[in-house]
Amino acid sequence: MPEQVKILLNEDEMPRQWYNIQADLPKPCPPPVDKDGNPIGPDTLAPVFPMNLIEQEVSQERWIDIPEPVLDVLMQWRPSPLYRARKLEKALGTPARIYYKNEGVSPPGSHKPNTAVAQAYYNKEFGIKRLTTETGAGQWGSALAYGCKQMGLECKVYMVRISFDQKPFRKIMMQTWGANCVASPSTETQAGRAILKEYPDTPGSLGIAISEAIEAAVTGKDSRYSLGSVLNHVLMHQTVIGLEAKKQFEKVGDYPDVVIGCAGGGSNFAGISFPFICDKIAGKEIKVVAVEPSACPTLTRAPYAYDSGDVAMMTPLLPMHSLGHTFVPPPIHAGGLRYHGMAPLVSHCLKLGLIEAGALHQLECYEAALMFAYSEGFIPAPETSHAIAQVVREARLAKEEGRERVILFNWSGHGLMDLTGYQAYFDGKLEDYALPEEQMMRSLASMEGLPKPPSA
Ligand SMILES: *Cc1c(COP(=O)(O)O)cnc(C)c1O
Repeated sequence: MPEQVKILLNEDEMPRQWYNIQADLPKPCPPPVDKDGNPIGPDTLAPVFPMNLIEQEVSQERWIDIPEPVLDVLMQWRPSPLYRARKLEKALGTPARIYYKNEGVSPPGSHKPNTAVAQAYYNKEFGIKRLTTETGAGQWGSALAYGCKQMGLECKVYMVRISFDQKPFRKIMMQTWGANCVASPSTETQAGRAILKEYPDTPGSLGIAISEAIEAAVTGKDSRYSLGSVLNHVLMHQTVIGLEAKKQFEKVGDYPDVVIGCAGGGSNFAGISFPFICDKIAGKEIKVVAVEPSACPTLTRAPYAYDSGDVAMMTPLLPMHSLGHTFVPPPIHAGGLRYHGMAPLVSHCLKLGLIEAGALHQLECYEAALMFAYSEGFIPAPETSHAIAQVVREARLAKEEGRERVILFNWSGHGLMDLTGYQAYFDGKLEDYALPEEQMMRSLASMEGLPKPPSA
């Protein structure tokens, strides 16, 4: 009998509740504020989000029930398998035991439908007919398109121009699930038209696309906006990943020393790590690492500040590590890791010393992605490759030290829609790129004059 590779849960072992880390934080996360620094009330958010999700956003309850209709859709691919990466371990010659949650098994191919389905459900319950959103690489847009179709909502997606051009297949996926997708900046919104007038050739950015999607939500009939990462409720919807992983570790009598996730807005990282950070707060010794690209070093180089989530400053100010809301990221292939900010809860965990952060260059990440594809077979998303590269580092360290480390990471999605990035790598067209200090200073300047978070 070959050794066990997949650790599976039955459908009846799927978590029935989400975990809300806010209940356990040693210090509360500061609230969102307006431009004068006053905490905003639920009414400010009401034109943008349905009240049932706003309630979740501010909830301090430790456990929140997952509604039956949401479980019913998640069950299509959940519980996701926990893999023991035996072939990768062998390739690395490491004494470490490496495990990964395969979130690429969902219909859109990433962790993102875990929240897309939930958000579509709550909007439907609230009487909303249409959701608007932005998308970078297209994973979020396709996840929301799928979620909306499952729940019977319309879906409108503003897709960052450069990805719209580089990744036509994602657009077709969205269409296949019945959504309407346009390149951002578009001529359909005031925000889009204003940017196009000033920068007709802009590659676009998530910040711009968010402005367009919010405008379309607040001016459209029965419409609300949906965000794929960053916000508290989004991170909470992703905790099914870590909660399942804990049960799966129990089944094989193991437990991680290190938990790793790539971090764009922070949702898949939070999803796998928060249930373990719960144990860490209670005294367990676990190293938790968020990995970002050197081209968009939010956690590792940007200040902790109050900043807006979008260019037009339509969102409230969030307490987070931010490169500044006018940040236009360099066109690296990990499109999902190019957002200017980082989830307030992830930023807060870094401040509290509950997690660590690292930044990696893209060539090292593609090398790690190939090592993974050679050994485990699955082709990772360029975002996911950042987590894999960190795993490779930890596994090599374990080898040098001759230590039996147990490493868990989130395999956040497959890269089958991102093969142009691999092509560029094979053609020798990719270069390492650290964000130049001068460019960072320029976008940081957009936060001047904004209020400062309490302990910053
Ligand atoms: C969107 C995405 C990410 C980054 O987003 P987070 O909110 O930080 O998780 C990472 N990996 C994949 C596959 C994605 O689609």
